[in-house]
Amino acid sequence: MNILQLTFAILKPHITKNPIALEQIKYIILTSKFKIVKSKRKTITMQEAEEFYVEHKHKFFYNRLVTFMTSGPSDLLILAKENAIKDWRTLMGPTKAYRAHFEAPDSIRGKFGLSDTRNATHGSDSEESARREIRIFFPEFDVDKWYREEEPLFRNDKVAFYEERFLHQPNT
Ligand code: ADP
Ligand code: MG
Repeated sequence: MNILQLTFAILKPHITKNPIALEQIKYIILTSKFKIVKSKRKTITMQEAEEFYVEHKHKFFYNRLVTFMTSGPSDLLILAKENAIKDWRTLMGPTKAYRAHFEAPDSIRGKFGLSDTRNATHGSDSEESARREIRIFFPEFDVDKWYREEEPLFRNDKVAFYEERFLHQPNT
């Protein structure tokens, strides 16, 4: 097995409010063989949302996007897998919910996207984005140290899964 890659995912506010959708998405994450390296539930602040979506600052949907993203708790996840970035984006499906319903009905956004804004989940689009996004929401998490010290443990499955925390941790 090749080296694992980290990606950053968000289960957006309308998902954490919907237990059935939440459980199904968690099930998809686990059965797709992602390891959950970090997991926390948090209401994103306006300052965090503005930093996170800075590339969209001048888009027509920016206001409704940051308003929605700060409207209630999200689940913030650091996921690990070989090709995690691409695999997670494939599982999510197209950005726009109506396109997702049509073109990828079995994708996460196809199943759980309610609108172009409320499209269920986020996933980093590159390694550089993943690092930037992880730094915003898990500032104490050292990506380089993780690759150095923990990646081999996760890759070789020397981890335990804690269901109530939705988290894998290296065996001690
Ligand atoms: P992705 O999340 O697939 O990387 P983008 O980076 O283009 O997509 O957009 C960031 C987020 O902004 C999307 O996940 C979605 O919530 C919202 N968004 C994107 N395009 C639109 C749109 N046309 N109308 C409303 N919201 C949008
Ligand atoms: Mg994006």
